[in-house]
Amino acid sequence: MTTVETVAGPIDADDLGLTLIHEHFFSGDEAVAAQWPHVRDHEREYALALESAAAVTQHGVTTVVEPTAMLLGRDVPRLQRLSAETGLQIVACTGIYTYDALPQFLLNRDEDFMAGLFVHDIEQGIQGTEAKAAFIKCAADEPGVNERIEKIHRAAARASLRTGAPIMAHSRPASGTGPRQVEIFLEEGVAPEKIQIAHTGDTDDLDYIESLLAQGVYIGLDRYGLDIFLPTAQRNATVVELLDRGHVERMFLSQDFDIPIANGLDWYPPEVIEALEAAGAANGWSMTLLFEQIIPELTERGMSAEALQTMMVENPRRWLGR
Ligand SMILES: [Zn+2]
Repeated sequence: MTTVETVAGPIDADDLGLTLIHEHFFSGDEAVAAQWPHVRDHEREYALALESAAAVTQHGVTTVVEPTAMLLGRDVPRLQRLSAETGLQIVACTGIYTYDALPQFLLNRDEDFMAGLFVHDIEQGIQGTEAKAAFIKCAADEPGVNERIEKIHRAAARASLRTGAPIMAHSRPASGTGPRQVEIFLEEGVAPEKIQIAHTGDTDDLDYIESLLAQGVYIGLDRYGLDIFLPTAQRNATVVELLDRGHVERMFLSQDFDIPIANGLDWYPPEVIEALEAAGAANGWSMTLLFEQIIPELTERGMSAEALQTMMVENPRRWLGR
């Protein structure tokens, strides 16, 4: 049987069902939360998470993949509570979310040590719980794939090879990070079907996207609502064209919705979130925008029910199943 680890234990991959591949219930700055817990409104965050969980469930979603890794405030005990109280299946990760800096502890240890940490979460469990990581997260952004980012990518690759767990790599198309990220994984020997390059949908440069797909990797068209990176109309046009070109088996749709960020509870203070919204940075960004607006629009433009099923049920099953 092919299985997938959730925060409530392993399930048959066939039971994932309708899956959002990239959404954040809880996230934030770990150091601030640990040192000044009074600045975080955990009750409000949890209430908002319950709201989003109920909203996605109403649209038939049965699984949410939650790629919050180290340095983004991973909190698996809280995900377990949310899953138990809502019945939603939640898939957690291991890995490190940084665009550049690493804590001294990891700066001064090598890739293989780091890989061992990831393997621990995949084989033993996360943060003292029984919940195991189903995939490995890493990131490259504006600073590019520098020495520290490369080290994390190589560690992710080695942990993937040791466990069979797939990798999700946050990318920044505007900085052209994707091809180098894929190159590192392939150099390390990871199979392309284990790799997902998240946020590829932040560009409508089809040559760039095709260059990634040519390597056999999955791509995340996963930031619907974040117009600051690419407006919805351009995201939709890109998805329609990629479907026409026959890439459905490598595409994921999601929103990268982040509850604490969207509500001004962590990264940005509320007034900055309001200003960003007023400036059009986000438009309808939520955990249900796909169902309320995007899927109807894509369907009108020719996306079949079968294509949707492939992107939101079959691809998650194939990418995550082990
Ligand atoms: Zn994300």
